[in-house]
Amino acid sequence: MVGLGGASFPTSVKLNPGSDNPIDTLVINGAECEPYITCDDLLMRERGARILDGIRIIRHLIGVETCLIGIEDNKPEAIAAMDQAVAATDLKDWVTVVPIPTLYPSGGEKQLIQILTGKEVPSNGIPARIGILCQNVGSCVAIADAVLDGRPLISRFVTISGRGIPTPRNLEVRVGTPVAELTGLCGGTGDDVRELICGGPMMGFEIGSEQIPVTKATNCFLALTADETPDPGTALACIRCGRCADVCPARLLPQQLYWYARAKDLDKVQDYDLFDCIECGCCAHVCPSHIPLVQYYRYAKTESWAREQERRKAEHARARHEARQARLERLEQERQAKLRRKKEALNRKPAAKSAAGGEDPKKAAIEAARKRAATKKAAIAKQGIAPMNTENLNPAQQRQVDAADARRGAAETATSNEE
Ligand code: SF4
Ligand code: SF4
Repeated sequence: MVGLGGASFPTSVKLNPGSDNPIDTLVINGAECEPYITCDDLLMRERGARILDGIRIIRHLIGVETCLIGIEDNKPEAIAAMDQAVAATDLKDWVTVVPIPTLYPSGGEKQLIQILTGKEVPSNGIPARIGILCQNVGSCVAIADAVLDGRPLISRFVTISGRGIPTPRNLEVRVGTPVAELTGLCGGTGDDVRELICGGPMMGFEIGSEQIPVTKATNCFLALTADETPDPGTALACIRCGRCADVCPARLLPQQLYWYARAKDLDKVQDYDLFDCIECGCCAHVCPSHIPLVQYYRYAKTESWAREQERRKAEHARARHEARQARLERLEQERQAKLRRKKEALNRKPAAKSAAGGEDPKKAAIEAARKRAATKKAAIAKQGIAPMNTENLNPAQQRQVDAADARRGAAETATSNEE
């Protein structure tokens, strides 16, 4: 199970914040990520009780003290439905529905937490560091379905929209369904479609085919016409106007990030908190030089991840090499110790011989064996056991007797040789 807000973060990881991060507040994200998207709005209107079931399970798991459900104030039906659902349960003293201003990107996790609680998630940190757990409304429904009905996450709500779609709608679809099936259910895509986008208009990415499938992270497909996708214009040089910094919801310096990402200076770009960028696209939207800023940030993030992976691989290889060297050293020491013990044993033998009065211990053993055999032979003769009659043996028995005679003869020869 993963979070259905778009980032697909594993739900089990979020629900195990560790004893170092005690959680006291549960924030439920009912704010849509981007314009056009309305799948969470529909979910809150249709399945409010189920969302509360999920919230109850999360409370049972991590024992939070309070729960805030943030919903944008342009969704009055969803707010009313959730208020009604909360009032009908025993959660009313504990869960609060909070309308928030409709201002992109208030559906971002860190932004929503700040709006609802006034607390700021630390740079490069997670909400658990400030005692907050954030879950999407879709994730709450999926948790309830899994725990109460044993139903895995095999479907989700997806918005199909854009002016290129004759009848935009939200559909509950199985994961893996091709986009063409969904657009077909909404009247098909018109000839005037210029871009087919997976995700919202700000953070989504263009898809080249309608055959790509719905995944757990897919919340929207857009078929945008030319009037919805104005030509971005030719990118010009940065004029340091600072407009990008004014609109950045993460309070970063987008122009600095741009400079260092463009120069491929991956260390400097980290100094400006690249990984706090939520790729909302606000900076690029207001940039008078039409610089595709987010593309530079995505590039820098990908390169940084690749470099980090290389560093980890090198670290792993070094650890393996050191372990191998240590193992070879240990084996060599063991071999030397074995040789030493053997040598000492050999040196001890003449001493044992002299201790026995000059008699060779090997010869003494052979003599003792011969004496035992003679004693046994005499005992048999004394008991009058007749020699074996070999006249009426069949050929197989005869062969066994011959083989035994041969072995005995060989043993006697060997004994006399040793003497
Ligand atoms: S908005 Fe564009 S031109 Fe202005 S400072 Fe930012 S990157 Fe430079
Ligand atoms: S995309 Fe731009 S505006 Fe949005 S968080 Fe990143 S730097 Fe800030």
